[in-house]
Amino acid sequence: MQEISTATRTRIADVAPRHDALEVLRRTFGYDAFRGPQQAIVEHVSAGGDALVLMPTGGGKSLCFQIPALLREGTGLVVSPLIALMQDQVEALRQLGVRAACLNSSLGADEAREVERELVEGRLDLLYVAPERLLTPRFLSLLDRSRIALFAIDEAHCVSQWGHDFRPEYRELTVLHERWPEVPRIALTATADPPTRREIVERLALEEAECFLSSFDRPNIRYSVAHKDNPRRQLLDFLGGHAGESGIVYCLSRRKVEETAEFLAGHGIAALPYHAGLPAAVRADNQRRFLREDGIVMCATIAFGMGIDKPDVRFVAHLDLPKSIEGYYQETGRAGRDGEPAEAWMGYGLGDVVLLRQMIEQGEASEERKRLERRKLDQLLGYCESAGCRRQALLAAFGEEYAGGGSGPGTCGNCDNCLQPVRTWDATEAARKALSCVYRTGQRFGAAHLIDVLRGADTEKVRQFRHHEISTYGIGAELDTNTWRSVFRQLVVSGLLEVDAEGHGSLRLGAASRPVLRGEQSVQLREEPARKARGAKGAGGEAKRSESTLHVDAGDRPLFDALRAWRGDLAREQNVPAYVIFHDRTLRDIAGLRPATISELARVGGIGGSKLGRYGEAVLEIVREQG
Ligand code: ADP
Ligand code: ZN
Repeated sequence: MQEISTATRTRIADVAPRHDALEVLRRTFGYDAFRGPQQAIVEHVSAGGDALVLMPTGGGKSLCFQIPALLREGTGLVVSPLIALMQDQVEALRQLGVRAACLNSSLGADEAREVERELVEGRLDLLYVAPERLLTPRFLSLLDRSRIALFAIDEAHCVSQWGHDFRPEYRELTVLHERWPEVPRIALTATADPPTRREIVERLALEEAECFLSSFDRPNIRYSVAHKDNPRRQLLDFLGGHAGESGIVYCLSRRKVEETAEFLAGHGIAALPYHAGLPAAVRADNQRRFLREDGIVMCATIAFGMGIDKPDVRFVAHLDLPKSIEGYYQETGRAGRDGEPAEAWMGYGLGDVVLLRQMIEQGEASEERKRLERRKLDQLLGYCESAGCRRQALLAAFGEEYAGGGSGPGTCGNCDNCLQPVRTWDATEAARKALSCVYRTGQRFGAAHLIDVLRGADTEKVRQFRHHEISTYGIGAELDTNTWRSVFRQLVVSGLLEVDAEGHGSLRLGAASRPVLRGEQSVQLREEPARKARGAKGAGGEAKRSESTLHVDAGDRPLFDALRAWRGDLAREQNVPAYVIFHDRTLRDIAGLRPATISELARVGGIGGSKLGRYGEAVLEIVREQG
């Protein structure tokens, strides 16, 4: 197999690269056609050009450097920041018959020397290296004695100081260009915002590189935002629609991560915690289990996720508001890399808004930085409160105009607002009551107490401050607590109310509140949709569920399950994640096609020559057994 592929490669380089890129895609990776800009990128880099590739997670970035590395003479060097995940990527390539290895601190001295020898002797197609290893004088001199096909710089946004993934070593990677100007470089990232893009170009000296910017739309991800009234209950309802599936639940604090994991485990859900405060061994073990076992729910801070290649993460839930739209998009992008339906759900409430505003104001950052953070938060809040298509709002944040894929222009048909259009109501009267209650109580109380006053509640605090004696006491009894919370939240988001900077959560009038108080301006607010439990009977529950999980026809289920069980055994035997052997999607397609021969099996997407040789017969036998 390897002999053949080397021979083909030499021939390929001489003749027509166009045709041969497709040939490698089909024969080695088992895919029929390139996706989006993949072909243009592969051709550009194979011909020796530099490239900057901006593609959403799951877009298919890896092939953009893997195929050129196979087509060009020498070894493709891949710089990747996460040594824990290199091994799985290398394993996935080996399963395809590609000669891949990695070099990082997890290797013993002997193993490392063997990999180095393979590199110098030209016996590797791809080598994954951590940046700190790559930059050592010893390794650089090793590269002088090797033939290099290309440099791929994965997760290139790590050069940017603005993001939370900043790696100082990434900035030194310009040395590659200085030392080997003739070797093509390809930098890749899923971070879309223009400032980060500019920084990548500048820091990696990619001014001459061709930029390949894909649409950042992830049509298979369904976005929804719920107002939090009972977050744990809501999370359980949400998870109820994803029983047995892998997913991530993001929380803001380490403590909440642990509490949430415990809470879910108490409800029979296979949940694990992950945050930077856990011992390294626990973190590594939890991550390994998430990657290798089916159906683990990872409760995590944003310390978790970068470089996680797991294709079948079916959902990402946010129990707390993320810090920015970019962060949100990156985190939710980890769902549904395999292109199958996936869900991004966020719970959000007034408490989040107050907390994040205070974190910004009380932070040590410069005034300039705070201004930027305020703007980012406002943008995110605008997204949460939007009554329009979520997808359109998300893409707009990255400067992308969304043409619409749903029933009308600017609608996607796959977000909460498109599926269940938001109603607005005339809240002028309610807003005036709320604002004047803030004013009458001295602009120093939080929403909970203000709601008590409006609703005429008899609490100790009300009595203590004699608030039952003021004119706004009990004037809002016609609205329930939930509705009032929604009113206050939206008044804060729209700037009619402001959060105090000192950190007590008290609200005061914003500059824009005057015309409303004077009755010169009306206020329209969004109505909170009634929450329906997932398990509820009727169309809602069941229909929704099948749309957001991998769809397998009922008749194919037994065969699909048998194939999955076989894959699970094999993965344990080889100590690799199951998806490295076959994706769920591939198994589903096999179950649907029921191939009787090797050549029929070869038609299924994701089965290249190597996997056909390794597993073809075993798969056919299972198909035969299941009749
Ligand atoms: P990214 O690195 O951009 O997040 P990956 O390179 O991991 O994405 O690819 C995402 C998924 O899409 C992988 O499961 C990969 O096998 C699959 N994929 C990539 N390119 C193609 C293609 N041309 N046809 C079919 N599947 C593809
Ligand atoms: Zn939509």
